[in-house]
Amino acid sequence: MTSQFPFDRALPGVRELQPYQPGKPAEELERELGISGAVKLASNENPRGCSPAVLSAIREYSDIGLYPDANGFSLKQALSRQLGVEPAQITLGNGSNDVLDLLARVFVGPGDDVVFSEHAFLVYPLVTRAVGGNAVVTPAADWGHDLLAMSKALTSRTKLVFIANPNNPTGTYSPATQLEQFLAEVPGNIVVVIDEAYFEYVSADDYPNALHWCTRFPNLVVTRTFSKIHGLAGLRIGFGVASKEITDLLNRVRQPFNVNALALVAAEAALNDAEHAVRCARDNEEQRARLARFCVERGLEYIPSVANFLTVAFGDHAGEINSKLLHKGVIVRPLENYGMPHHLRITIGRDREMDRLFDALGSFL
Ligand SMILES: *Cc1c(COP(=O)(O)O)cnc(C)c1O
Repeated sequence: MTSQFPFDRALPGVRELQPYQPGKPAEELERELGISGAVKLASNENPRGCSPAVLSAIREYSDIGLYPDANGFSLKQALSRQLGVEPAQITLGNGSNDVLDLLARVFVGPGDDVVFSEHAFLVYPLVTRAVGGNAVVTPAADWGHDLLAMSKALTSRTKLVFIANPNNPTGTYSPATQLEQFLAEVPGNIVVVIDEAYFEYVSADDYPNALHWCTRFPNLVVTRTFSKIHGLAGLRIGFGVASKEITDLLNRVRQPFNVNALALVAAEAALNDAEHAVRCARDNEEQRARLARFCVERGLEYIPSVANFLTVAFGDHAGEINSKLLHKGVIVRPLENYGMPHHLRITIGRDREMDRLFDALGSFL
């Protein structure tokens, strides 16, 4: 079957790939069960959505007939002011996943190694294999990245290292001193990507802002997104910060209009509403603590998380619990494809959504 056209003509890496499995949309479950009001806690989306300022900015924008600004001048200026980096260090992407993809396309070819951790974000193997690279997966330690093991896995074939900080789907993070030490040990010709998709949610004292290391380590790329705390997942916009030289290379392979006009306008409005982000982070901590307490009361183990989700161990019952939750109209994320068949990842919702989850879980635990 797969030795026939068109599979035989596809690149070997592509033939091995499994398509990324997104969280089930609430509408789909509602259609399947003939219910309404399903609660989706499966894709780490912001339960408050975006800032109202974003919605007005989008409504006011009408130049849809024109191509967007291919260089995102205005947004890069705003990011530059907020982050203290130069516009020439910023690459905008159609989601930060787009930037991860650009990195693989610029630096990785057939036979090159890309190092990342077990249980790390699934987009890393996806972008690696799509360009023919070898995924070198190091064992996790306590569900988090084992930086020492990652350091030891680097060879002359290694082109790229992906570190999710914090990691999805485990919610674990690498503290500043360890990560800085890792960066200092990595040969200067290996590009290290620190993926900070959940940066704004983290309040731990020893959690680093990797942007501070960009000058000291010219091989470092930091990625962030507007999908999570800014609530713009549906518009697709994220960015990478790196040296001007790396940024120039990314810009060569980037589709000229990879970020759409509404996303540019929305992202800038989101940046200007810092209060929204603060409120979302506060809500998240409160509700995450509630979920953690629920787990303790019910004797459920969970992986301590600094992000907007909590990954809970249900042992051999994870699949069954997932189906039962679906029947109650609550969508969470099973993690078989992350090598974690006994866990479910639960995105932190608002008060009412967490109540629905607790009611549902309470009825069959
Ligand atoms: C959600 C997420 C992203 C962001 O993806 P976008 O393409 O920006 O929506 C990146 N990395 C990790 C680890 C994530 O969980």
